[in-house]
Amino acid sequence: MRIKSGIHQLLPAVNKDAERIHGADAQYANFSAGKALAETVQTTLGPKSLDKMLLTADGKLVVTNDGASILDRMDINHPIAEMVVDVAETQEDTAGDGTTTAVLLTGALLRNAADLIEQGLHPTTISDGYHLAAERACETLQQATIRIDANDPDQLQKIARTVITGKWDNPDARFLAGLAVRAVQAVECDGLIDRRNITQQTVAGGSCRDSEVIDGLVIDMERSSTSMVSPTTAFPRRIEDATIALIDSQLTVETVTGHGTVNFGDPEQRPALLEYEDRVYEECVTTIVDAGADVVFCQKSIDDPIRHFLARENVLAVERTRKDELRKLGRVTGAQHVGSIDHLSAADTGRARVVERRSAGDRELAIVTGGSDSKQVSLLLRGGTAHVVDEMKRILSDCIAVLELTIEHREVLPGGGAIEVMLATDLRDYAVGIEGQAQLAATAFADALEIIPRTLAKNAGMDPIDSLIDLRTRHHAGNHTAGLAVLTGDIQDMVAVGVLEPLTIKRRAITNAQEASNTIIRIDDIIVASADND
Ligand code: ADP
Repeated sequence: MRIKSGIHQLLPAVNKDAERIHGADAQYANFSAGKALAETVQTTLGPKSLDKMLLTADGKLVVTNDGASILDRMDINHPIAEMVVDVAETQEDTAGDGTTTAVLLTGALLRNAADLIEQGLHPTTISDGYHLAAERACETLQQATIRIDANDPDQLQKIARTVITGKWDNPDARFLAGLAVRAVQAVECDGLIDRRNITQQTVAGGSCRDSEVIDGLVIDMERSSTSMVSPTTAFPRRIEDATIALIDSQLTVETVTGHGTVNFGDPEQRPALLEYEDRVYEECVTTIVDAGADVVFCQKSIDDPIRHFLARENVLAVERTRKDELRKLGRVTGAQHVGSIDHLSAADTGRARVVERRSAGDRELAIVTGGSDSKQVSLLLRGGTAHVVDEMKRILSDCIAVLELTIEHREVLPGGGAIEVMLATDLRDYAVGIEGQAQLAATAFADALEIIPRTLAKNAGMDPIDSLIDLRTRHHAGNHTAGLAVLTGDIQDMVAVGVLEPLTIKRRAITNAQEASNTIIRIDDIIVASADND
């Protein structure tokens, strides 16, 4: 998707070295680009939202509901639109979720700023007002915080479900939330989560409900890894107390003239070559056996004869293990990677309590469970197609990030637009005390926050205006947790129905949106420097 057709369309040439637009034209162009992006992701907010299908430049098809993933894949060719994409990226990096919220808020702040400029407010006055309003909103957020018991799986389940219902079919949201909670609780250590200890493995084919949390590290094995094993030397599917070796390169025999092609000057040379190959194979196998390895994971390919000889020695050889998986295996088992088989010794090997082979769909998996102090779990994600499991992986990554924040900070807020209406109500009162025209900007900030309940209502087929009026009335009456129960289409107490979100996500969304929109508001000149000046 292309936002505008590029800055050059907006910029009349000024001279041969530079192009520029400035003043109201520049501001109009900037606000339009920001608003256009917000409109793009608008329909993806909340439980009743719709997905986007994106065809990437390299021809890959992605179906997603995740704001950051959508913007990341768009072909954006406008500097201001890129700044809005940065908002989503920063939100994803620092909070793990809330990307659509942050982008929608940025778009609403820019739209309201455009109205204020038209009324005659100076951009710096608007940015001062926005700044004051964001500070006040963050203070109010802190006061509205609800402390939770991070050891209570029911509480965590509610928070996980709020993330997932925003992005996945409701009937499966409870099930997926349960997986995410079990995974984070399994790796939690003194109130901290090391996300590296949770890996995700996707296998297309099967139902979402076949997904599971597996104790240990799941490695996708090449089918070929076990195809050479003859029936007489069939491996047990479970190896207990296994010694693990990790090889960074390939296990192949280099012939004198290089890989694959051998030229004989004389047919007599053939037996000598075969003898040479056998000797090298034997040496390779002996090195692995002498190191005491029961399982060897190799980053590249393994020659069939080597796999066969290793199988005879009861050593399972897994080829084409991804580099990141080798790294994880190193962490879980304590094994050192060796660059070449010649350098392998017993000191480089690690230990696993169990290595188990399992089939899932058309894939063969190795499940490696580390020592007693290893807290490693894997989410094995199953779904109808590769698109489904990929989206499931993105959603569970967000969910795990949110649970991490929740467990570490234990502070949550009511979702469903409740907190935004509460902040807006407070900000309107607060704005009255601000001197000068910045007061109007603070009120505009309050209006912008209400883009969240408006959009949630609109996406759920509820009347956005009636819903907002109803919410405002309830908040004025003192019900600060009233929000949109979009699944039932009415207004309810969000704490009672368990729609909860971590404080950090909201705070980051508000500050990221305010900082980006203030930066954009203050730009009144766009100059494209000539290539010579780069
Ligand atoms: P983001 O990328 O901003 O997290 P989502 O599409 O995940 O966007 O939607 C998050 C919004 O959906 C939040 O405002 C959250 O409170 C709201 N939400 C999630 N579940 C529910 C629910 N069951 N009822 C009402 N609102 C919900």
